[in-house]
Amino acid sequence: MIKVVIVGIEGEINLGFIVRLCKNFEVDELSLIKPQVNIWSEEVKRFAANGVDYLYSGRVKIYDHIEEALKDIGIAACTSAVVDTSSGDVLRKAIELESFIEIAKLYTNIAVVFGRESVGLTREEIAKCDVLVHIATNPSYPVLNLSHAVAITLYKLYKMLNKPSLLEKMDKADEEQLRTAEKYFDDLARLVASDERQHVMFSMAFRHLLRKASLTKSELGFLVTFIRRLSNKLTKCV
Ligand code: SAH
Repeated sequence: MIKVVIVGIEGEINLGFIVRLCKNFEVDELSLIKPQVNIWSEEVKRFAANGVDYLYSGRVKIYDHIEEALKDIGIAACTSAVVDTSSGDVLRKAIELESFIEIAKLYTNIAVVFGRESVGLTREEIAKCDVLVHIATNPSYPVLNLSHAVAITLYKLYKMLNKPSLLEKMDKADEEQLRTAEKYFDDLARLVASDERQHVMFSMAFRHLLRKASLTKSELGFLVTFIRRLSNKLTKCV
């Protein structure tokens, strides 16, 4: 279960974007702690775009205290642009988002907590989390827009959970098509190579290229037509 917790949100546009993201990345619950905006405003709905139904899905919860949102959570990560690198401020010792994702894999109930646009999370709030997470950014300007920080984090969690992507439906070239392509290329390689050794190397390089490129059926189809025509024309010339 993935829960996004937003403390004291101040911007309707940001909230709209976050609602949209929760639908984009199939977030199980969006917990709003003392939101400072009207969550039903037209602006929120406008920026939620086609994610607006998430607002009515029962997955958006409003709480007074962060603890209420974090009960039953296995690992809670607070997020911040402000981290401690030199002094002994243990509270602000952070890990990178990438490292958090590796750790989060071991848990089923995961919460990520984000702070206010103006002042972020208070020390008391950060103290309620199990880890502090920082998203790598330009050290001289590390502060991301709230909804952008949410987007980066949710994308990473989405990938971690191996959730679906439209690209899975891609018409990947199959093994038979690959072998056919190799055969045509081999014919062409034989035609242009200066000796047998070069012919073998040309063919091998093409085989590697095909495997590394993971082409679609249509892309490979065009390549094969191209190579076949080249071979035919060349055969006529020689
Ligand atoms: N001026 C505030 C900025 C808050 S930005 C401050 O000093 O903290 C709003 C929220 O976006 C932050 O509370 C945090 O949750 C998130 N955020 C922004 N930049 C981030 C970063 N580089 N890494 C992790 N979270 C970040």
